[in-house]
Amino acid sequence: MTAAPQTNAVQTIAAQTTTTISGWGGYPTQEAQVITPLSLSAYKASLQHHPSVIARGMGRSYGDSANAATVLQTAYCDHFIAFDAATGVLTVEAGVTLRDILKITVTHGWFLPVTPGTSFVTVGGAIASDVHGKNHHVAGTFGQRVLSINMLLGTGEVVTTSPTQLPDLFQATCGGMGLTGVILTATIQLIPIKSAYITQKTIKAGSIEEACEAFEANSSSAYSVAWIDCLSTGKHLGRSVLMLGEHSDNGGLGLKIKDPISIPIHTPAALLNSMTMRAFNGAYWAKASNNKTQTVPLLPYFYPLDAIGGWNKLYGKAGFVQYQCVLPKADGVANMRKILTQIAQSGAGSFLAVLKQFGPANQNLLSFPIEGYTLALDFKMSPYVIDLLLRLDDMVADMSGRVYLTKDALMREVSFKTTYPKWQEFEAVRQKYGAIGKFASAQSKRLGLA
Ligand SMILES: Cc1cc2nc3c(=O)[nH]c(=O)nc-3n(C[C@H](O)[C@H](O)[C@H](O)COP(=O)(O)OP(=O)(O)OC[C@H]3O[C@@H](n4cnc5c(N)ncnc54)[C@H](O)[C@@H]3O)c2cc1C
Repeated sequence: MTAAPQTNAVQTIAAQTTTTISGWGGYPTQEAQVITPLSLSAYKASLQHHPSVIARGMGRSYGDSANAATVLQTAYCDHFIAFDAATGVLTVEAGVTLRDILKITVTHGWFLPVTPGTSFVTVGGAIASDVHGKNHHVAGTFGQRVLSINMLLGTGEVVTTSPTQLPDLFQATCGGMGLTGVILTATIQLIPIKSAYITQKTIKAGSIEEACEAFEANSSSAYSVAWIDCLSTGKHLGRSVLMLGEHSDNGGLGLKIKDPISIPIHTPAALLNSMTMRAFNGAYWAKASNNKTQTVPLLPYFYPLDAIGGWNKLYGKAGFVQYQCVLPKADGVANMRKILTQIAQSGAGSFLAVLKQFGPANQNLLSFPIEGYTLALDFKMSPYVIDLLLRLDDMVADMSGRVYLTKDALMREVSFKTTYPKWQEFEAVRQKYGAIGKFASAQSKRLGLA
């Protein structure tokens, strides 16, 4: 239920609702007051009137990082401020989505420097998670392409931060999961493109070892990602279909954007079981062609799941968890085999498991990527899955890897503090800029952040 605009102290709030919220995985859920500010004064008033808040964009993080008793949804702060079509420098409000950006910039020959696997995320969310794309090995993270950020601190002050201006705040905010303040606007550098098409090459790899060799052999590719069969075992364990991509010069800059078809209701969770998943994985592998090159439009290449609205409902009412870990390159292949063996033996796992390679880590304090291989897959929620994922957390920590905060719903404080060694530096920056006690999420409380 949406209330009419307020006329009390919190004057420019457009909507204020009490409702049940969750991340994209639908687990966990929480009753929350959702405030949708229209202006800076509304953000400031919301900060003053509530003990603590967290910013929320499109809610595409999977777990509870954008859950709290009071959330500040950025949906109405979604204006374009400046776009220089000669240099590709873009300034937008934090509630603008990547999809909205593409609608405007692609026809002018500019593309996002780094993009996650869905375009339905906000710029604020992309910065707060320091998201990566299929090009981390050559381009790094989204935060590395941000020129500057304007943000609201817990003190009520608005500051500008950049790699050179208040750099400690910048490094804590990119990847800081909304815990340093509210990002209001951001300026980013786009990359030039000549067409709205990608030249895609498909390579089949019969095992995890072959897949990682193929990533290495193609490490100069602009984009690379692999679909991985998470249920195959033995010598076929980790068989994958790699999709390499380069921006094409041909086809023109016209972007074809279609509205997603939607899945209106939760499907019975029983439809997703190890038998149906095994059948899907077998068919996907058999259908893929080796060494095939084709030209495909940008949107289906980068965002295949965006064509189906509400696909998260396929996992049923109990929801699902996406588990994404990264393992360092040294021993990465052998360790990935151990993780995949655990998953394959469990019989749990997803239709769409994804493997990518990461380049070197950046300086951002809670940024996820480290040089190595990253695996992401969905698990339908159940008590058994909780046990499995906590076991995987321990294995990943022993392998000096880590789990991605923007996907996490379960990690224990000890795993977080072991695998994100800069967490104390992060807390010190939050203390310095007045964030402690002002910005908190269900996730930050679970992970033992102040
Ligand atoms: C299908 C799918 C594919 C994905 N693929 C990838 C991928 O390839 N790579 C990748 O890195 N991620 C990927 N993600 C994750 C997604 O990119 C991140 O979770 C992203 O942060 C979601 O943005 P959002 O606007 O929905 O933010 P939300 O989910 O609403 O919030 C995420 C975090 O950002 C913070 N936040 C949001 N807005 C602000 C703001 N204005 N100021 C301060 N903090 C803010 C929140 O507090 C929260 O901690 C994928 C998600 C989906 C659903």
